[in-house]
Amino acid sequence: MDQPEPVRTPASWVVVGLDNGGTCNNATVLDATGQFLVDHLVENPSLVDDGPESAVTALADAFRNILELTSTPLTLVRAVGLDTPGPASATGVISSKGSTNFNQVSWHGFDIRGALEAELGLPVVYNNDANAAALYAHHRHFGDDAMKRSSIAAIVGTGLGGGVVESGRVVSGAAGMAGELGHVQIPLHGVLEPDQPIPACNCGFEGDVESVASLTGIKNNLLPYWLTRFPDHPLATEPIGKAAKLLRGYGEREDPLALAVFGQQARAIGKLFTIAANFTDPHAYLLGGGVVEAAPQFRQWFLNTVRESTELRREQLAVASFALVADLDMAGARGAAVAALERVKA
Ligand SMILES: [Zn+2]
Repeated sequence: MDQPEPVRTPASWVVVGLDNGGTCNNATVLDATGQFLVDHLVENPSLVDDGPESAVTALADAFRNILELTSTPLTLVRAVGLDTPGPASATGVISSKGSTNFNQVSWHGFDIRGALEAELGLPVVYNNDANAAALYAHHRHFGDDAMKRSSIAAIVGTGLGGGVVESGRVVSGAAGMAGELGHVQIPLHGVLEPDQPIPACNCGFEGDVESVASLTGIKNNLLPYWLTRFPDHPLATEPIGKAAKLLRGYGEREDPLALAVFGQQARAIGKLFTIAANFTDPHAYLLGGGVVEAAPQFRQWFLNTVRESTELRREQLAVASFALVADLDMAGARGAAVAALERVKA
């Protein structure tokens, strides 16, 4: 449990945001005026490895705990926002094939949103974690104008997550699979070297964004290639998984191999954003993940490279913005809460 910091008590009705992760649930409270009552991570064990029943009980515990911490009476809560890792349907039914976090058979096809709703007796609004983070990034970036603006967010981590937000709301799609930005295939011209193999993704596609712009892409595709170009590099003697994780530190020190790899990632994201420019023409192009936690000079170079690789028309350049999004450790819970607040207000 985190060291308690000052928290506010609610001035109006509220919604609760619950972010379900592989080891922890993170919880927050958002009041009707748009103020978060908690300014730090509040975590409880998620117990997802113990199966759905224990995990839903753990979510209910996280809910009660955050109300107690913020001195919020249960009667003030109008709705609960929930996010989990995907893949899941738009209404929170875990994939029939399970997933990395939900691999027990009892999870396959489990309606986690419905189960929590029954447990709490309150409406539960579901988003996958990438979409929840994108929604929070959007609202944080635009503030009071959020419901009048659109954005695309790419979040670089083990994979490439993110989402598409239109008029302040996540585009979730018919099957809940909109905004799977990592698996959008991109033109590789200008991204890869002439003799570089076409990168493959775990999803079965070749040359999608995640095959380049993710930690997995570095490990499986980019670093093995670039080490053939820099055979004497110190990372050549490390196991590839460890070397991939160490690469950002080299990038911050302007190591040529690392800059070659991260330059390819930034150009791949630029290609994705160019597709977005012609598809939904968003007001903002948001970038998050590990790169945002890097040294300021390095992350600015990365963002600039993304921007230079995004081909916008003059009319778009006049209205579009590019930005890094921070506070991503709380983004899931906060985005889930924002979605619940908008649902209540709608
Ligand atoms: Zn893919």
